[in-house]
Amino acid sequence: MSNVTVKMLGTGCPRPEIDRAGPAQVLLIENLPILIDCGEGTTAQLMKAGIAPEEVKHLYFTHLHSDHTMGYTQFLFAGWELGRRELTVVGPKGLKKYHDTIVGMFEEDIDYRLSLGRPRNGLLDVNIIELEGKGEVSCDIPAQVTAAQMDHSILTYAYRFDIQDTSVVISGDTAPTNALVELSKDADILVHDCCLAPTKLYTAEERERNPERQALWKRINETHCTPAQAAETARQANVKQLVLTHFLPDIDVQKTYEEAAEVFSGKVIVPYDLEVITAKNLSGALT
Ligand SMILES: [Zn+2]
Ligand SMILES: [Zn+2]
Repeated sequence: MSNVTVKMLGTGCPRPEIDRAGPAQVLLIENLPILIDCGEGTTAQLMKAGIAPEEVKHLYFTHLHSDHTMGYTQFLFAGWELGRRELTVVGPKGLKKYHDTIVGMFEEDIDYRLSLGRPRNGLLDVNIIELEGKGEVSCDIPAQVTAAQMDHSILTYAYRFDIQDTSVVISGDTAPTNALVELSKDADILVHDCCLAPTKLYTAEERERNPERQALWKRINETHCTPAQAAETARQANVKQLVLTHFLPDIDVQKTYEEAAEVFSGKVIVPYDLEVITAKNLSGALT
């Protein structure tokens, strides 16, 4: 069995929080890092996790919401500055425009850096792959990668990485969807959106006391999951470990864990930033 781990780089959401960086995680196949999403602070989080940014040559975006992409400019330029000379970025339609806009915006800056003798490789020849529909994603890594469309406010893909007999699924942002149940069947690790607080924290009565937030809550409810909803997907898919992420500030870790564990009998993890998830490691409970 290959050595497969997931390091949770950023477990936060669009609202900034000191202890939780923007959404990002890195899948390590042996020592090969595959970055999934690139929220604010990702480059610094990689370094804290002991991974040199220039060693990350593969990045998958689940979707192009700002919280999942805000760290890309820094990742792109800093990795190149540090010596990265090849990069492949995979994501939904719109990715090429996003990348080209950043490169275009910094044209003068890039010209200056090139004039200092840096090569254009790794910055001006990035391999951008825009996905069309669902299915197998062709990319030069030692894993079979399958994408499935999620249920979010913009085009969003979850990714399944099959590495020999180990499988890891990253959901991106999504409301409950059967597409994720199917994609996650028997996976060792399912990293799942959990942007909604445990339902027991916010009763209908409490929400009514905040009428101005009603519309916002309704919209978030339609595009994300509660711990119980994420756990129901994990249960139906028969995954081994459910890793919740994309937390609002001041998330109640214990209540989040309890709500998920009531529904899902496998291992539930409510991680902090930089927590390491190991495939097949089924000991322990709340971490
Ligand atoms: Zn998000
Ligand atoms: Zn989103």
